[in-house]
Amino acid sequence: MEMGVIGLGGMGSGMAANLLKAGHKVVVWNRSPGPVEALTAQGAIAAASPKDAFQGEATVTMLADDQAVRDVVLESGALDAARTGLVHVVSATISVALAQELEKLHADRGLGYVAAPVLGRPDVAEQGQLNVLAAGDAAAMAKVQPLLDVIGKRTWRVGDAPHQANVAKLQVNFMIAAAIETMAEAFTVAEKSGVDPAFMYELITETLFAAPAYKTYGQFIVDQQFAPAKFKLKLGLKDIRLALAAGEAVDAPAPLAALLRDNFIDAMAHGGADLDWAGLATVARRRAGL
Ligand code: NAP
Repeated sequence: MEMGVIGLGGMGSGMAANLLKAGHKVVVWNRSPGPVEALTAQGAIAAASPKDAFQGEATVTMLADDQAVRDVVLESGALDAARTGLVHVVSATISVALAQELEKLHADRGLGYVAAPVLGRPDVAEQGQLNVLAAGDAAAMAKVQPLLDVIGKRTWRVGDAPHQANVAKLQVNFMIAAAIETMAEAFTVAEKSGVDPAFMYELITETLFAAPAYKTYGQFIVDQQFAPAKFKLKLGLKDIRLALAAGEAVDAPAPLAALLRDNFIDAMAHGGADLDWAGLATVARRRAGL
């Protein structure tokens, strides 16, 4: 398929590389040039502007946040200039409100729109093993399913309205952040009481909490290994804010998410913006004097 990929950060680079390997003709655009050079060396075509990456049958965007999507897709005029019938796959974790706005903007222009946020970190993206949470109408979904099959090991069809995929993704990230926070607090109390956090980690992950979220993030907490970031703490704060807004939009209070937001802000205030989001655990330790 002739297609574009925009946003070649930690996640987008691996996704684009896999689409190339699968034989697609991939036109890439990124704000900074480094990742573009790495992908053209693998056979991608460099776009001169975001518009040029919206001239195929589909475009996958994997930008950081709402503002980046607004700048690159809307303000640049790329969506206005998109090829008729193109399907835009938005894989970034964006707000439910922006996803709803994008539904209308695409419909008004006769373009397809699939929201396809993902579960999995950059190493998983590189392996093409992401879990893709996808939503969009049946025709648009059918057109891009072969692309989703390349970037992910499974597509979870959330619903027909794209923003529903963003709701699901944000709630999953809220739950991961809650797992990081609970382990941080529990391991901190244990450590101050003379119980080894490594023992706590093994105990929980071999018994009641034998799940990937606890296994992955618990190990980072035990090792105090928060750099280099695979998912930046400042992006984690973005997602908690978006999860709160999603709850507020439907009158569903989320007091635990509010607490997490404040702890993320605490971590940011103490220089943690570019740590991995498991660095949220530094807050509980610092407050306990460790
Ligand atoms: P990242 O490494 O920070 O990459 C962000 C990308 O967005 C880069 O291509 C960056 O361009 C671009 N960008 C940011 N602001 C921009 C702006 N104003 N104008 C133009 N381009 C801009 O982030 P990532 O880890 O790949 O995450 C991308 C998305 O996937 C986020 O929504 C994140 O929440 C989500 N996500 C991440 C993970 C993870 O584990 N990392 C997992 C699931 C979902 P430059 O290269 O020029 O900076």
